[in-house]
Amino acid sequence: MSIQGLQKLTLLDFPGRVACTVFLDGCNFRCPFCHNASLVIEPGRQPAISEEELLTFLKKRQGVLDGVCVTGGEPLLWPGLAQLLKKLKQLGYLVKLDTNGSRPEQLRQLVEQQLVDYVAMDIKAAPENYARVAGVPQLDLVPIQQSVAFLKSGAVEHEFRTTVVCPLHTEQDFVQIGEWLRGEQRYFLQGFVDSGELVQAQGLSAYTKEEMEGFLALVQRQVPGAALRGID
Ligand code: SF4
Repeated sequence: MSIQGLQKLTLLDFPGRVACTVFLDGCNFRCPFCHNASLVIEPGRQPAISEEELLTFLKKRQGVLDGVCVTGGEPLLWPGLAQLLKKLKQLGYLVKLDTNGSRPEQLRQLVEQQLVDYVAMDIKAAPENYARVAGVPQLDLVPIQQSVAFLKSGAVEHEFRTTVVCPLHTEQDFVQIGEWLRGEQRYFLQGFVDSGELVQAQGLSAYTKEEMEGFLALVQRQVPGAALRGID
């Protein structure tokens, strides 16, 4: 387990919870807009936090924080993730897991072991545009579709979200994503922000608020509860 970062307080990442966020490095995708490029391209570059340090911190915060967000990178790549989550649950924390959806079996096992309380899964793009936006030319979409189907089955509280990036996404993405996620309650279109540490350094930008609202309207034909996030 490689814990590469700890954000000690977040009021935004875990809906309705006061939480911290743990960053695990390594990812099997290369999304050009990824703002955690160091975790993806150069895993191990930042100083690591030991599991012991993390657990000591969480013991001190019992009663102050009620949740832990586990993000990456892609956390489900780590074989020891279940063991870490068990320790978080033993301390009484709710767990939110961020995932790119490429490991449906691992996701299902963690949910069935009741080690995860909330899942946020990225929908990178419409199926035909997925490989390009994920930065993996030979991407197998089947595991992604399996993760979506599993979450849609209602096994665990969850949301889907898409970081919307110009010029990677077009209206067609949101027409197709709306059809894919039909019947879902929580789907968010997130504005792109250039962190200055992207996987692809140039050529990406955010759409305007008006353009984002146009994409949202397309999605809402099938997912009425869809919303924008991080748009001023
Ligand atoms: S944005 Fe893409 S490359 Fe970055 S961590 Fe998430 S899935 Fe991996």
